[in-house]
Amino acid sequence: MSTSVQHMLKGIPKVDRLLDWPEISVLRAEYSRPELLTAIRKVLGQIREGVRNGGGAAACEAGRIAALVASELISRSKRSLQTVINGSGVVVHTNLGRSPLADEAEEAIQAVSAGYSNLEYDLETGERGTRYAHVEGLICELTGAEAALVVNNNAAAVILALTSLAQGREVVVSRGELVEIGGSFRIPDVMTQSGAKLVEVGTTNRTHIRDFLNALNETTALLLKVHTSNFAIVGFTAEATLAEMASLGRENGLPVMLDAGSGCLIDLAPYGISGEATVRQNLDAGIDVVTFSGDKLLGGPQAGLIAGKRQYIEPMKRHPLLRALRMDKLNLAALEATLRLYRDERRALAAIPTLRMLTMTAGQLTRRADMITRKLRRSLPDSVSLVKHPGESSAGGGSFPLLQLPTALIEVRVDRCSAQQIETALRRTKVPVIGRIQNDRFLLDVRTILDRDLPDLGRSLTEACASFALEMP
Ligand SMILES: *Cc1c(COP(=O)(O)O)cnc(C)c1O
Repeated sequence: MSTSVQHMLKGIPKVDRLLDWPEISVLRAEYSRPELLTAIRKVLGQIREGVRNGGGAAACEAGRIAALVASELISRSKRSLQTVINGSGVVVHTNLGRSPLADEAEEAIQAVSAGYSNLEYDLETGERGTRYAHVEGLICELTGAEAALVVNNNAAAVILALTSLAQGREVVVSRGELVEIGGSFRIPDVMTQSGAKLVEVGTTNRTHIRDFLNALNETTALLLKVHTSNFAIVGFTAEATLAEMASLGRENGLPVMLDAGSGCLIDLAPYGISGEATVRQNLDAGIDVVTFSGDKLLGGPQAGLIAGKRQYIEPMKRHPLLRALRMDKLNLAALEATLRLYRDERRALAAIPTLRMLTMTAGQLTRRADMITRKLRRSLPDSVSLVKHPGESSAGGGSFPLLQLPTALIEVRVDRCSAQQIETALRRTKVPVIGRIQNDRFLLDVRTILDRDLPDLGRSLTEACASFALEMP
């Protein structure tokens, strides 16, 4: 190490001295001593590193150090997981937290989170109860199932079901349904994890019930159908229907399971969203076990629901794996509250944000775009203009991959700024706004902007404009 570097390192102020600097001591008003010390130590560490790597003496200047400490404190005080405004038009957006909860679900979480609850306590008998009891009856009521169970998410539901029903034996699946959902959820890999042996039948585009029949042998444990959530095979296609699979299973004494993915509890065909059978319809078709997500089309919290025949669900309730996959009380509270809304279909459609957004009519969306534009214009600087366009939104979350819902878009234009610059600035505001860029336009889809977002949306646009004004020459 050169002597000048050693000299500079010696010149870096000590923590105690820094605390007495006026530039730093003003921060005491807002931050505690331990917070301040952590920030100072981190900044001094960075400065030392900089000096060793050839940074100049300017690094030790008081004003600069104080600014670094202040910015470190601000960045430490910001939560990493925070609210964003979804202007993307993707309703069930996996990267943006999937389904926003209904007010009722939010209240239920509040009600049980800060105190004790009867999570595993039977208030009738005064004895130990089970957490699953809070939703099993509801799921049965809403789907017609004999029994039900909930776990952390649908991936966990599939693993639990396969492990419990088919470990060490064969599971027959169509080659056209060996899906990858994203992350590391791929049907063949999940099968390996659960200790079941995958037997692929049919071809990518065509699978017949006779393909399943030909694959049966004494080690077959289960017939599995998987919802092709995020893709579609079109053209010359064929698949074994649920009813065909159910009767083949019945004739051979084998359970038939459906990984339904989204798991819809309401028929959405009257709202222009067709092609998705409800869980009740799946069970009515004779399927023994259906698994589905809580936070996709259901519009609730992250959860995996398993509904079906008692003889197959009961062993899952006793399976040792269940303990590792069990749902926590906050999600359970939100799930119960969400499911209760489904007792009245009209209420569910109005109160559950995911369903409300998916079923908005073109007229409602146009009026919404007018209302939002009018509100925003009042507070925006002259450099910003808002232009309405027709467009399309999608369901997202691995549901209805081909569905394009007509929607209303608001283009945000800012003088002398590109769509890319607007996108970046809005992503970095206090309440970030996520939109999309299409044909060099920055667009916000009004379908996924919630009423509660509106005040923040105005503030974020103003904040983004202020950041442009700073950057501009
Ligand atoms: C989404 C999905 C899963 C995974 O569900 P998570 O609740 O995200 O764990 C599994 N299978 C299918 C078919 C899906 O669409």
